[in-house]
Amino acid sequence: MEKQPGSDTARSAASLQESWARIRGRLRDEVGEVEYRTWLRQMTLVGIEDDEVVVNLPTRFLRDWVRSHYGDRLRALWQQEVAAVRSVDVRVGPQPRSAVPPDQDAAASAPAVRAGLAEALAPSPSRTVAADPRGEWSAPLDPRFTFDTFVVGKPNEFAYACARRVAEKPASPGFNPLFLYGGVGLGKTHLMHAVAWAIRGGEPARNVAYMSAEKFMYRFISALRSQSTMEFKESLRSVDVLMVDDLQFLIGKDNTQEEFFHTFNALIDAGKQIIISADKSPSDLNGLEDRLRTRLGCGMVADIHATTYELRLSILQAKATAAAVPVPKNVHEFLAHKITSNVRELEGALNRLIAHANLFGRAITLESAQDVLHDLLRAHDRRVTIEEIQRKVAEHYNIRLTDMSSARRARNVARPRQVAMYLAKQLTSRSLPEIGRRFGNRDHTTVMHAVSRISELMQADSAFAEDVELLRRMLET
Ligand code: ADP
Ligand code: MG
Repeated sequence: MEKQPGSDTARSAASLQESWARIRGRLRDEVGEVEYRTWLRQMTLVGIEDDEVVVNLPTRFLRDWVRSHYGDRLRALWQQEVAAVRSVDVRVGPQPRSAVPPDQDAAASAPAVRAGLAEALAPSPSRTVAADPRGEWSAPLDPRFTFDTFVVGKPNEFAYACARRVAEKPASPGFNPLFLYGGVGLGKTHLMHAVAWAIRGGEPARNVAYMSAEKFMYRFISALRSQSTMEFKESLRSVDVLMVDDLQFLIGKDNTQEEFFHTFNALIDAGKQIIISADKSPSDLNGLEDRLRTRLGCGMVADIHATTYELRLSILQAKATAAAVPVPKNVHEFLAHKITSNVRELEGALNRLIAHANLFGRAITLESAQDVLHDLLRAHDRRVTIEEIQRKVAEHYNIRLTDMSSARRARNVARPRQVAMYLAKQLTSRSLPEIGRRFGNRDHTTVMHAVSRISELMQADSAFAEDVELLRRMLET
């Protein structure tokens, strides 16, 4: 049968759109919802010209911002999808006429593809596996994720120290594997990239492979399909340092887990360094095979705790300094108080303020921050009631709920009561007199005193601060 002219190009256009959808999804995961909506949502794919991907944005301001902040990342993500891509050009251009809601990741309009790229776009999993393992295995590293830009504080100092140690002396006993775990947006990927940059910088001959667990699975399945599992194994086992990010993704994927287990053992036996990240500790990763769980836990396990107020403040200061934009102290404090979920969101909020200030040529103030971020802040303003706070805090400190409003002054009762008052002030919009009334008709000055006392204690005692932060998080989610 005669082949339809242009059918290759049509297929490539479809696969190009698929790639684009994946890239956007990945970007959204990486930068967080706020940042994505602010900067990236309006991007549309124009097409590929030679080896350059062309992307449109509606304004020059957006274009400049996306170029300077996401240009490298866009190119890296594109290269993961289509190896032939050399650059990404972000332009100012019209949005497609098709009324595709910008939220939708589906094809906005058929992008143009030069026929020469049709081949590069066609799926051909086997070819990618057999090639040179170096670079071939590793996903691109984010240039921003280095040790220099990582702000160290109580919640992450242990994980940071372990990562430093592994970067200096890969595969030293006791640190192999290094298992990093913690909630989303707390710096796991950042630390892994930092280790990779450090090792590559110090010993360029080392073959460092960083990948997501998802990518590992994808490659493995492709190899199975194209019956090239031998090459898959060989090329993977030739790396010196293997990093697999977000291992929890392998839960329930039994074959991939099995393959990973063998790779893991082979590399450890050969004295290679392995670094894994996950959202939970090995023992809490339900659904992981026991023997894998055991091996994962037998090196160094380091957790990254939720951020504390102090760490959030230091991170904001570091990022504002790096951006060379003056941000008043009270805005830092405001953000550090309000955006407690994770570092990614915090970063997103700060970036939005900075962009807003640049755009309108106005200084950042507390008022403008509240204004610019009001939608974000509202989402964070959970409707927590004072009763809930009292109940949780009483439970946590093992006192009776009635003691929240009793007259007892014993320290073991009075302190939790103050914590509850502090949280009531932080998490609800109730006034001081109102809060006082709910705590056994106390005066508003008592509440005021409680709030400042707890703040002081948190400053002085980081274990206590973490405790209160933990309560806050439990109440917020
Ligand atoms: P995770 O992989 O744990 O979900 P990431 O490593 O992707 O989180 O971090 C999310 C964002 O927050 C990144 O932009 C990262 O640079 C930043 N970040 C996280 N922790 C820190 C830190 N301690 N210092 C500076 N930036 C941080
Ligand atoms: Mg990550």
